[in-house]
Amino acid sequence: MTRKKFLAGNWKMQKTRAEASEFFQLFTKILGDLKNVTRVVDVAFGVPATLFDACSTNTAGSGVKILAQNVHFEKQGAFTGELSTGMLADAGLAGSIIGHSERRQYFAENDEAVGKKWNALALRGLLPVVCVGETKAEREQGKTNDVVTKQFEASFAHVSVEARANEFIVAYEPVWAIGTGLTATPEQAEDVHKMIRGLIDKHFGKERAESTRVLYGGSMNALNCAELLQKPNIDGGLIGGASLKPEDFSKMVQAALVAK
Ligand code: PEP
Repeated sequence: MTRKKFLAGNWKMQKTRAEASEFFQLFTKILGDLKNVTRVVDVAFGVPATLFDACSTNTAGSGVKILAQNVHFEKQGAFTGELSTGMLADAGLAGSIIGHSERRQYFAENDEAVGKKWNALALRGLLPVVCVGETKAEREQGKTNDVVTKQFEASFAHVSVEARANEFIVAYEPVWAIGTGLTATPEQAEDVHKMIRGLIDKHFGKERAESTRVLYGGSMNALNCAELLQKPNIDGGLIGGASLKPEDFSKMVQAALVAK
């Protein structure tokens, strides 16, 4: 089965509204009508909440998906500083990145919280982009598959039967490759992606395993993305640094457009 490639930028804590508008002006100038692009490749941006409106306005009608970078699993209440899935839906968002390694590292996000967020997003009809990945030490100790399996299964345990029926995306992001300029080789990434597809098969069945997109993230850029995207189990990317400049990110979209 051919899965539609999915390229998502992760802007982290970067850009003002004016900078976001400038980005989309140039991005559109380079790629032309974005509707033609998103018919073939899914394009998404995980952006700070201050940019939800500007990004939605700048991409209206194009099929480009705007994502949050985090969400709370409760519907509402006294959770200062948090946003609910209902708020994301109200802002016109398509979904949220969850479990990013920076949130795990700096904000103590654990697998249980990731699972509850996955559950809340799916029940609200929003797309969870679930990040998993090992540290350098874990890879060196040969624990990559165990770590990724535990992250996936310990999160999945908090996803209700009803929520499991809805689409999700997995982003394999080796921590040692994020923002470091070190990229997993296409073979290293493909091995883990294949293992993740096996996990999806085990818990969701063959059909879902075949249709679920598994993205690679970690210093993916305009030079290395074509090779990564050629691998049979790499269905796209979650891209930090290289998604900030329209000249770079549009090249990656062009590579995804021609990747088989
Ligand atoms: C990320 O933050 O998800 C990421 C992959 O960052 P970078 O592309 O900069 O390594």
